[in-house]
Amino acid sequence: MAHAVVVGAGIGGLTAAVALRRRGWEVTVFERAPSLEPVGSGLGIAANALRALDTIGIGDDIRRLSAVQGEAGVRRADGRWLMRTTEEATSARHGDSVVLLRRTDLVDAIAARLEPGVIRLDSTVTAVDPYTGRVTVRTGGPSGADTGAGGADTGAGAGSGGAGADTGAGGAAHDGAAGTTEVVADLVVAADGIRSPIRTALFPDHPGPSYAGVTSWRLLVPGGGRPGRTFESWGEGRVFGVMPLAGGTAYCYATDTVPAGGDPGDGESRRAELLRLFGGWHDPIPALLEAAPPELVLRNDVHHLATPLPAMHLGRVALLGDAAHAMTPNMGQGACQAIEDAVVLAHVAGDGDGPAGAARGTGTAGATGVDLAPYTAARLERTSRIIARSASICRTTRIRNPLAVRLRDTMMGLAWRLAGGRMTAAMDEVLGWRPPGSRVRPPVTPRTSPAAAASPAAAGRRGAR
Ligand SMILES: Cc1cc2nc3c(=O)[nH]c(=O)nc-3n(C[C@H](O)[C@H](O)[C@H](O)COP(=O)(O)OP(=O)(O)OC[C@H]3O[C@@H](n4cnc5c(N)ncnc54)[C@H](O)[C@@H]3O)c2cc1C
Repeated sequence: MAHAVVVGAGIGGLTAAVALRRRGWEVTVFERAPSLEPVGSGLGIAANALRALDTIGIGDDIRRLSAVQGEAGVRRADGRWLMRTTEEATSARHGDSVVLLRRTDLVDAIAARLEPGVIRLDSTVTAVDPYTGRVTVRTGGPSGADTGAGGADTGAGAGSGGAGADTGAGGAAHDGAAGTTEVVADLVVAADGIRSPIRTALFPDHPGPSYAGVTSWRLLVPGGGRPGRTFESWGEGRVFGVMPLAGGTAYCYATDTVPAGGDPGDGESRRAELLRLFGGWHDPIPALLEAAPPELVLRNDVHHLATPLPAMHLGRVALLGDAAHAMTPNMGQGACQAIEDAVVLAHVAGDGDGPAGAARGTGTAGATGVDLAPYTAARLERTSRIIARSASICRTTRIRNPLAVRLRDTMMGLAWRLAGGRMTAAMDEVLGWRPPGSRVRPPVTPRTSPAAAASPAAAGRRGAR
């Protein structure tokens, strides 16, 4: 059986692990954090990613845990709508609405599809040889100490429960220097986030991530969500968005055009800063900020990979998710693209337990690995276009000059009316994506009940790890 090592248990790495397991691959996921507690509160998963999740049997799980986006649109700081769409219009056009959920619920639902022992926590990958597939892993100790800091959404959890890494699951595993293990894999999936040390090692001439000119806040407001009402409001260089999650919680996010590195560091100061910036905006923004528990306010400078990589693979290593194409959050597509990557990669990798998998060997010398050129061909151009489009929207939100802001707002409203009130027409290419060789099942209607949000199944899975 062919063996894949996945580096990083974020949304991208976990989805890749599930997709490869379904193709018969033996999979080991190494995660440097001691627990799977994703940072970043909530997020939206759009029709393209739901379609990808359908091919690996998780789409309906996610829909059940989510609230639908419902009516959605862009407003001005005074609340006037610039453009809007309905749940029905989005579903009719793209087959699904955007579903909104907590990151923890998404990570739990994906991780629950992996057998015990697949995910190795407290395990930092310190080196990868792309030509032999040799992966060096350090277990225990301070996570990520010598591989660079993670991105805005890295899962550096604070819990416990790490597991040992050197039990020789597949490949040729043996002890290296004290505390390290070496595993030889037929395929290495580098899903190690925006600061990916593997990307830097593979493509040393690539400039890496750059600051997009905005800092972002994310916060959860329990009881603050109005079901079915999602909006993003644009002011002078600033944005404030509200998404109702299942169970009545509001997920809010905001951006401001400021130099990088100004985080005061504690939740109370962050909330005070948000009140100063957005306290005079339209309802319900001030009330949500007043009600936000400070400990649930996050702040991260937004970085992206403005320069596309020359390829999304080298030798046996496939780069995936933010490691390959970190983008600004303006299109809500970072995780969605990571999910697309994962199912495409599994399709390209083929069966791990059939004759092709056997021919690849089990990571022993002479094994052939996977030809990853079709993966780059399928993913690089698409994700580069989405990075560029997202960056362009980000630049538009950064406009500060009041006259230019009025012009921008007028143009947006006009463009929407000219498009016959179809807000998502511009997103057709992104949302209309189809997974390769997929048998997509028709979507089910998501539930928005508190019971779904507080799913005992999800809680149980979290507790079980
Ligand atoms: C404000 C904001 C809002 C967003 N909203 C949305 C949205 O609505 N929809 C959407 O689709 N996307 C959204 N995104 C983007 C999305 O969060 C990311 O694109 C996505 O989480 C990336 O997932 P990933 O698995 O590629 O990387 P990560 O989540 O960064 O995971 C990388 C993992 O690798 C681990 N790791 C790193 N180095 C090592 C190592 N050496 N050894 C072992 N493990 C390692 C890390 O600990 C981490 O767990 C948003 C982003 C921001 C900033």
